[in-house]
Amino acid sequence: MTTPWMIANVVDKRVETPSAHTLVLDVDGWPGHLAGQHVDVRLTAEDGYSAQRSYSIASARNGGRVELTVQTVPDGEVSPYLADVVEPGDQLELRGPIGGWFVWNPDSTRPVLLVGGGSGIVPLRAMLRARHDAGSRALFRLVYSVREPMETYFADEFARPDPVVDVHFVHTRRAPVGSRRPVGRLGIADLNTHGWPPDFEPDCFVCGPTGFVETAANILVALGHEPRRIRTERFGPT
Ligand SMILES: Cc1cc2nc3c(=O)[nH]c(=O)nc-3n(C[C@H](O)[C@H](O)[C@H](O)COP(=O)(O)OP(=O)(O)OC[C@H]3O[C@@H](n4cnc5c(N)ncnc54)[C@H](O)[C@@H]3O)c2cc1C
Repeated sequence: MTTPWMIANVVDKRVETPSAHTLVLDVDGWPGHLAGQHVDVRLTAEDGYSAQRSYSIASARNGGRVELTVQTVPDGEVSPYLADVVEPGDQLELRGPIGGWFVWNPDSTRPVLLVGGGSGIVPLRAMLRARHDAGSRALFRLVYSVREPMETYFADEFARPDPVVDVHFVHTRRAPVGSRRPVGRLGIADLNTHGWPPDFEPDCFVCGPTGFVETAANILVALGHEPRRIRTERFGPT
């Protein structure tokens, strides 16, 4: 059954990084969602031309409220409009929630490893929020890769992290002063040291650009994680 289109009212907009914005939406009739699900957003021009794209939900379930965090892709058709043109008071068409595989259920007590690259942090942030809101005691670890500190999404939340969630940053172009990890792409040492041992049988959620996801998933398999416990979501080209 196709999910119907709904009207979303934009009630707030936050700057996450110089090139990413969070839109806070109130959606009439929103049925609720699980962390990790996404929505389709449809834009329609006056001449009837329309374009739609998928966006992960950045927030945990909270009534009719849904947050989307959009990275502006230069020359993109939809993302520059959402990030730079849409303002509070505007309306968008949206349908969802979509997806039943890349989701974390708050009833689960299994250890969780989150691995995000760039905007791939968005659904993982929803999982962290859902864990917090549910008072879950599931063991979580996050490995988060960004080019440089100023490209960190939800930076204020990571500045005062949940003490029981271990967060490891991978900086690929420039690291903050005092960082002990050399600048460079995600490697085996990052996931070996800052992930869970395969014996713990963690559920692994990997999200980001296609190349990042493939690298991270291959490392996890090489480290001994069962492929069926590795769930991936690809956002697009590298
Ligand atoms: C399930 C799912 C969830 C997603 N969640 C998010 C999210 O939470 N936040 C978010 O910002 N994006 C997310 N995306 C990506 C999003 O759907 C769009 O692909 C992205 O916003 C670009 O759309 P656009 O219309 O601006 O660019 P387009 O007009 O489609 O493309 C313009 C150019 O950019 C390239 N391009 C397209 N997508 C990307 C990309 N992701 N990265 C780099 N280059 C790209 C294209 O190859 C093309 O050359 C998600 C994608 C999927 C499939």
